[in-house]
Amino acid sequence: EIRVRFAPSPTGYLHVGGLRTALYNFLFARKNNGKFILRIEDTDRNRFVEGAVENLINSLKWCGLNYDEGPDVGGNFGPYMQSQRIELYKKYAEELINKGHAYYCFCKPERLQALREEQEKQKLPQVKYDKHCLNLSKEEIQRNLNDNKPFVIRLNVIPNQKIIFNDIIRGTVEFDSNNIDDQILIKSDGYPTYHMANVVDDHFMEISHVIRGEEWLSSTPKHILLYEFFNWEKPKFAHLPLLLNPDRSKLSKRQGDVAVEDYRAKGYLQQALVNFVALLGWNAGDDQEFYYMNELIEKFSLERVNKAGAVFDLQKLNWLNAEHLRKLDDKILLSMLKDFILTTPYSNLNYSDDKLLKIIESMKERVTFIHEFVNNCKYFYEPPKEYEQKSVEKNWKEDTHIHLIKFKVEIERIENPTKEDFEITFNKIVGELNIGKGKLIHPLRLAVTGQSTGPGIFDILAILGKDEVVKRIEKAIQ
Ligand code: GLU
Repeated sequence: EIRVRFAPSPTGYLHVGGLRTALYNFLFARKNNGKFILRIEDTDRNRFVEGAVENLINSLKWCGLNYDEGPDVGGNFGPYMQSQRIELYKKYAEELINKGHAYYCFCKPERLQALREEQEKQKLPQVKYDKHCLNLSKEEIQRNLNDNKPFVIRLNVIPNQKIIFNDIIRGTVEFDSNNIDDQILIKSDGYPTYHMANVVDDHFMEISHVIRGEEWLSSTPKHILLYEFFNWEKPKFAHLPLLLNPDRSKLSKRQGDVAVEDYRAKGYLQQALVNFVALLGWNAGDDQEFYYMNELIEKFSLERVNKAGAVFDLQKLNWLNAEHLRKLDDKILLSMLKDFILTTPYSNLNYSDDKLLKIIESMKERVTFIHEFVNNCKYFYEPPKEYEQKSVEKNWKEDTHIHLIKFKVEIERIENPTKEDFEITFNKIVGELNIGKGKLIHPLRLAVTGQSTGPGIFDILAILGKDEVVKRIEKAIQ
């Protein structure tokens, strides 16, 4: 059975890189009728952040990444919080000690510090523990334990070994055991380190595939050693490419938002964010870029994940957001727009659904975000406060007010003019005045919107309605 997990440390928010890892695990599980598990790796007590787990779970759920097993949904392999599994890690660390694959280390911080300085002075490629405590006699160890001396438990790495494993994305990966420190498995506070807890849990949760970011690749040989020492079957490994800033440095907060909740707050749609993140390191082998989740599930495969780093391109995210927005049902757009309007000064206008739907229709091809149905066309909600200077200079001529008055007078005669009425009237007037259409259309647009661009002018006039149009023309020609 395929069983995969997303195993975040709760740092306070879900990083977009974490979302990518979670998504690929989710897609792989769903595609292969497997199980997707959420496991919280919270054994670093110094890094405890209040509300972090809830926050993470909210972000995952917002993105539609529902898991089959996890802290809040349960499952047969729980608990799913590492802080609730401490005894298990201790037990298995002791088993390794009994087998000679791990050992107690009582070295004081001062000794370790001196050792580090000495090795740094020698310019060794890597600072490593010198296995000092491996040579303690049984009696000495017992005495130290009886005396309650603080200790850690270390992995006994055997030197001069090649550690080789196959990565689904990167192929054969090889490490030299001489470059691997005798890792701490259990810290002096009794809590396990990442390596220990991660391997024990992946084993007991029967994880078949470990899919995680490339930054964990150098941890994998340590995990391989643990699997071998325990005589446990290894999962398959897949390390996902790094996420990069446009300048190809590692994706960082400094160059933009990295938390899923920030994108949510800015008005990105979860469909667009998921679609975008799916393409950070994967493609189906064609040039399709627009996907819904069900199609991603159908097409996803680990074999098509790239090795090379994936550049986080905000413009592409914006493009996808616009695409997904346009494809939403108008009813859904309407309810989102109404929710947004409640946060603006226009909440007391009480526009009818019909009017809002017309605004949506006219603006749909021009927006990237819901808020732009207001912010990019404020003229639908209030008269223009100013008129675009450049367009005034170019289009507002001496006889403009005469043209506009004529238009206004004609419109005032019609009861409830429709879009067609506005257009017919407009054509009639330019015909009678014998002027080019531009001579009336630009001033008209300026008078009612204050701008030089936007949706079709007759749509705008019809949405605003006769009274508002008349008022705005009168004000513009004062
Ligand atoms: N706790 C690690 C993290 O924060 C898990 C890495 C892994 O998947 O093994 O990403």
